[in-house]
Amino acid sequence: MTVGLKCTACGAENPPGSGFCRQCGKAIAPPPDEEPVRVAGAGKISWGWVAAGVGLILLIQIVVNLSVAPLILRKMVLETKDPSPYGALGVLFLIGAAVYFVVGMIVGRFSKGYTVREPAIAAVVAAAINAGLSVASDSGSIAGPSGIVVTLVVFALLAALGYGGGIVGEKLQERAETPRRPGS
Ligand SMILES: [Zn+2]
Repeated sequence: MTVGLKCTACGAENPPGSGFCRQCGKAIAPPPDEEPVRVAGAGKISWGWVAAGVGLILLIQIVVNLSVAPLILRKMVLETKDPSPYGALGVLFLIGAAVYFVVGMIVGRFSKGYTVREPAIAAVVAAAINAGLSVASDSGSIAGPSGIVVTLVVFALLAALGYGGGIVGEKLQERAETPRRPGS
């Protein structure tokens, strides 16, 4: 079938596969029975953004580990002589949660396309690296096999938060890039 596409805005005939009307420049929707014309690069994952997300998460964590984390441990564990470090661990988890969510949101907002793949992959990779390091160094206060399970659950939660941040970021991007219609 080599039927031209009729512009819905001005009625001009356009060659098959046209994305935009050559007469008035309006976007042309493909006929319903036709596979939509794929935009170049739309189906590709932007690995640069994945790497940027992983790098950003790890960088912020290094900064936190060197600055805020020792302070929290001193104030909440050493000075209070609290035998259980769970309060401090909870605060550190909340900081980690915020980092994953915000980085996921940034990657989702600024990576091309409205898919959540880049922030999702970045969050999973960063969480896997962290979980691996944490288990390997055995730096967690909860040691043993149950400690590994807790570590995995914690980082699975953080990865999920990165994913959630990615969804929010994509929504923000969609809102920012969708042209406003008059009256809406
Ligand atoms: Zn037209």
